[in-house]
Amino acid sequence: MARKVLTLAEVRDSALRNVSFEAIAAAKTVAEGGEVVTVLAGESVGSLAQELIAFGADRVITVEHANLKAYTSDGYSQALMAVLDAESPEGIIFGHTALGKDLSPKLASKLNSGLISDATEVEEVGGNLVFTRPIYSGKAFEKKIVTDGVIFATIRPNNIASLQKDDARSGDVSSLEVDVKDLRTIIKEVVRKATDGVDLSEAKVVVAGGRGVKSTDGFEPLKELADVLGAAVGASRGACDADYCDYSMQIGQTGKVVTPDLYIACGISGAIQHLAGMSNSKVIVAINKDPEANIFKVADYGIVGDLFEVVPLLTAEFKKL
Ligand code: FAD
Repeated sequence: MARKVLTLAEVRDSALRNVSFEAIAAAKTVAEGGEVVTVLAGESVGSLAQELIAFGADRVITVEHANLKAYTSDGYSQALMAVLDAESPEGIIFGHTALGKDLSPKLASKLNSGLISDATEVEEVGGNLVFTRPIYSGKAFEKKIVTDGVIFATIRPNNIASLQKDDARSGDVSSLEVDVKDLRTIIKEVVRKATDGVDLSEAKVVVAGGRGVKSTDGFEPLKELADVLGAAVGASRGACDADYCDYSMQIGQTGKVVTPDLYIACGISGAIQHLAGMSNSKVIVAINKDPEANIFKVADYGIVGDLFEVVPLLTAEFKKL
């Protein structure tokens, strides 16, 4: 059944986040030959529309307003509700990001629809659209189908491959005027913690340190390895609690959820709460001096040894490539 499916593009530092393209790819599956319409909301974001079309959007609707410069629940729900009223899509796909996690339940309740959150896969099986999502902190997966109403889902970043970019693709770009007003929250200033380049939740490679790094300086060898691999640096809560690094680096149940192609865990024991944030990584390498450490149960490759010896050796080897 061909459907009209709406996605929301996410913009950070004037660039589209990858999850915007992944949502389009998921929406194509849900649309089953129908139309994928992507909403691009912000202050002056129109120039990004063509990139969304190149990644598979059939149509882009821009909603530009000074009150959409920074994300607020109020502002974005006004903008999105206006688009939803105008378009009445049969499907909606957002990223399972901080923005998507905040906005999607609000819109689902306004639409009186259900919501499948944090899907890692969507496929057509025997005439049904089946969404897979992790449960019990990633220990099991459940499969969901929508039997009635709008198909509304959020997708976990880095799980659904975006489509091949095709700069020659064409599509319609239109704008919708929405008077975004009466905001109950106004963002005066965004102060971003300095991170070393790569966005942790979208990184293809993550090098993470735990309490085993022993100090703030203990992260230095991990940063050097990350530099060589173009990786982001993450941490266990143990390392954050010990004040070796900032909580923005925390991965796990109460931190960020990451699904990189390669996750290198250094001096992390592998508590269930940490595994909840990284066990779906495609390849996991664990470095720990305790051969009984729980992290080895989820690791594809385990190195029993002192991270301060092993990590510099890895860095030196990768530098040769
Ligand atoms: P430890 O468990 O102390 O492990 C350190 C490891 O380093 C050990 O395995 C040790 O063998 C190894 N090691 C030491 N020195 C070296 C060396 N030189 N070379 C190699 N290996 C070495 N944790 C998270 O990570 N993320 C979360 O989101 C999270 N949420 C939580 C939510 C709740 C409600 C609770 C109760 C806990 C949560 N935790 C979370 C904490 C979690 O239970 C663990 O306490 C924490 O993950 C442990 O961090 P760690 O592995 O770095 O430290």
